[in-house]
Parts: sequence; structure tokens; C-alpha cells
Amino acid sequence: MARYAGMAPYVYLSGEFVPQQEAKIDALSVAVKYAALVFEGMVAHVDDAGGNLALYRLPEHLARLQGSMRLLRFRHDYSEQALADVVTETLRRNEVREDAHVRLCAFVEGRGYNTTAEPIGLICSVSFRPKRRIEDKTGRAAISSWRRIDDQAMPPRVKCAGNYSNSRLAMLQATQDGYDEVIFLNQNGKVAEAASSCLFVLRNGVWATSRSTDGTLESITRDSLIKLLARDATPVEEREIDRSELYLAQEAFICGSGYEVAPILGFDGLAVGDGGIGPRTRRVWELYEAVLRGREAAFRHWLTPVWPADAGLRAAGE
Ligand code: PMP
Repeated sequence: MARYAGMAPYVYLSGEFVPQQEAKIDALSVAVKYAALVFEGMVAHVDDAGGNLALYRLPEHLARLQGSMRLLRFRHDYSEQALADVVTETLRRNEVREDAHVRLCAFVEGRGYNTTAEPIGLICSVSFRPKRRIEDKTGRAAISSWRRIDDQAMPPRVKCAGNYSNSRLAMLQATQDGYDEVIFLNQNGKVAEAASSCLFVLRNGVWATSRSTDGTLESITRDSLIKLLARDATPVEEREIDRSELYLAQEAFICGSGYEVAPILGFDGLAVGDGGIGPRTRRVWELYEAVLRGREAAFRHWLTPVWPADAGLRAAGE
């Protein structure tokens, strides 16, 4: 049980809420046998403006899930509204009123190798994510000798479970070698992304991040940061990045729904900048945190409230 300690008690499983220990799927399904499963990881934060819990960029996550299902030819009739209801209801059913991470998976429940028909099941689960300081999110990264999967074989731009075998190969090697994180190069030898996050590097005072055609997931956090930084008069270059640029970077961080903004303090044992958290990285984190917590009016449309307005966190919790 301790393994699940940080998780909310109920899991949504294809139409029902069940206690997490009872959330079971067919061991012979294509989902289990061949990883026919796509998913989203998204966050909900307590909003500083009203105290409600708010999901971050829910429509964009659901659109990406729809895209992942489409690419893998899952036949289903889940509308984005139906998926949104599953996510919101899972949070409500679990009485979640604190920072949390939500995982929504769609998977092939059938058993035939080539089946796409069905049925397509859904799993939605919640884990609690207490707020962390940026100082507690730092890491040192290795450049992997494993290459990122390529669009011609296994598209990294969508979020299917099979892609994470590639991530795990690299991450297990890197942690075995004493690193916290790993950076992939793509099939052309250019920087792609980390195992489950995207990378930004500061070069000559300008932020750069790989293009989404360079072997990355179409990251919602990356997109958010590009837009936030543009508004902060800090343009980001989306371009090919060479490996050697990582060793010359002034600052670097990885980003993702789960990671948020996590400073990278070294690559392959060479310190980034002076080896500490850089001021420009802190600024990115402050901007992003303000948006996540509803303090930026211009980006409040990225937040979807979980509880009805009259049942916000403070009202209900006090
Ligand atoms: N790349 C990979 C491989 C990931 O798993 C993630 C996490 N979803 C990201 C990048 C960051 O994506 P997002 O910002 O949408 O969470």
C-alpha cells in the first residue's frame, strides 16, 4: 500500500469509480500485451485568485489525447467534453482541493493483435503534488548514447506508452551512471528532449529550444513558456540545437507538466554557467508559477475551475 500513498483513493475505470487497489484491466488485452495505450499527465493547482482548484490547459491536453488516439487508430466516440467530465469528476469524487497531478489514459481493451475497435477503455487517477521550491528541482543530466525515437518509426510528438520504453532505456542508463536526468539526441545528432520533458538552453543571452520536428513531444509546457516569454519581451528561438551547445550554455532547464521548470546544473559533468540556478531560469519559473496559480489575468483562460464557484477551496475548507 505504501507505494500508492500519494494517490487519491478512487480511480475512474471505463465508466465507474473504483478503489485504486480494485482498478484492474484484462491481462491479455492489447494494452498490456503491446502497450496500446495513450495518456496525458496534467496538473491542477490551487488558484491564488479565488482559492479554487484549476486544471491547467485542459482542452489542449484533451486535444493531444485525441491526436494520440487518432494516430494509433483507436476507434472511439469520446468527445472532448466527455473526457473533460471524466477528469473533473475524478477530482471531485476524490474531494481534491490541493495541488494534484492527473493522469488520463485511453487503452485498447480488446485482445486481438490488430484490433483498434474496442472497446477503448479510460483510466483516470490522481496523485497529490505538494508545491516544491525551485531549489528542490535541480538536476544534472547526461547526454544519452540512446537516440530519440523517430517520426518515421515511432512518433515522439504523441504520448503513447510505447514511447516510454525509449525514455526508460535512456533514463535507467543515466541514473545508473549517477545522473538525475538524460537528454536525447535525435537521429540527426541534434538535441531532441529529455526522457519526459523538454529542454531550454540559454545561449548568448537568448533562450533556445528544439523544434517539435526535432524529435520531441508536442509539449504544452514548452508552448506555454514560449508564449509567456514572448509577452515578457524575451523571445525564444525554436531551432536545431547542437550537442556542443549544451556544454556552452549559460543556463538550462527542463520543463513539463510534472517537472514544471527544473534547472539543469550540468551536462555530462560540465557545470552549466556557475553551476547554480541562473537568474533567467528563476524568472521563467516565476512567470510560469504566476500563470499556474491564476495571478496573470492575460492567461487565466488557460485555467479550468474544478469546483463550482460557490464551493471553492477556502469556502469549502473553512
Ligand atoms: N517530452 C516528453 C517525452 C514527455 O513525456 C513530456 C511530459 N508530458 C514532455 C516532453 C513535456 O510535455 P508537457 O509539457 O505537455 O507535459
